[in-house]
Amino acid sequence: MKEPVTAYVGLGANLGDAAATVLGAVEALAALPRTTLVARSSLYRTAPVQASGPDFVNAVAALHTRLDAPGLLAALQGIEAAAGRERPYRNAPRTLDLDLLLYGQGRIDSARLTVPHPRMSERAFVLVPLAEIAPQLVPAGALAAMTSQVVARMP
Ligand code: ATP
Ligand code: MG
Ligand code: MG
Repeated sequence: MKEPVTAYVGLGANLGDAAATVLGAVEALAALPRTTLVARSSLYRTAPVQASGPDFVNAVAALHTRLDAPGLLAALQGIEAAAGRERPYRNAPRTLDLDLLLYGQGRIDSARLTVPHPRMSERAFVLVPLAEIAPQLVPAGALAAMTSQVVARMP
C-alpha cells in the first residue's frame, strides 16, 4: 500500500466556544478514516487578520493520511459543517475553519483546492503554530516579517 502523506491542517474559530470547537475538531481529525493525528500545536489567541469579529483561536495539526487531497478537503468540510460553519460572506466570523495548508510535497491548483494554501505564508496565526510542530517548514525570516500580528499562546 502507498505510503501515507504528511498533511498540515490550519484550524481557526471565532464564534461560540472557539477553544472547545478547535479541540473537538482535532479529535475529529484524529478519527478520520485512513488517517492518524501525529501532532497538534498549542492553541493560540489571535486578533482577526483579513477578517472581522471576535479574536480567533488558532492551531495547526499534522496528519498522516492515505486520503487523497480532494478526499481530505471533503472530510475537513464535513467537520466544518458539523460545527455549524456558515459562509454568509467572505472572511465572515466562523464557528470553525479547517484549511489544508500542505499535502506532502503536493502542489495542487484546481477550482476547489489550492495547495500549499496560497495565503499561509503571510499569516502569523498559521506560521507560529506550524513552527511549533514543524519548525523545518517555516523559514527563519518569515515570522520576523510579521511582528505586527499578535499571536498569543494560550495557557
Ligand atoms: P482563506 O482561504 O483565505 O483562509 P476561508 O478559509 O475563510 O479563507 P473558506 O470559506 O473556508 O475560506 O473556503 C472557501 C473555498 O476555498 C472552499 O470552498 C474550498 O473549496 C477552497 N479552497 C481552496 N484551497 C483550499 C485549501 N487549501 N484549504 C481549504 N479550502 C480551500
Ligand atoms: Mg481560512
Ligand atoms: Mg477555509
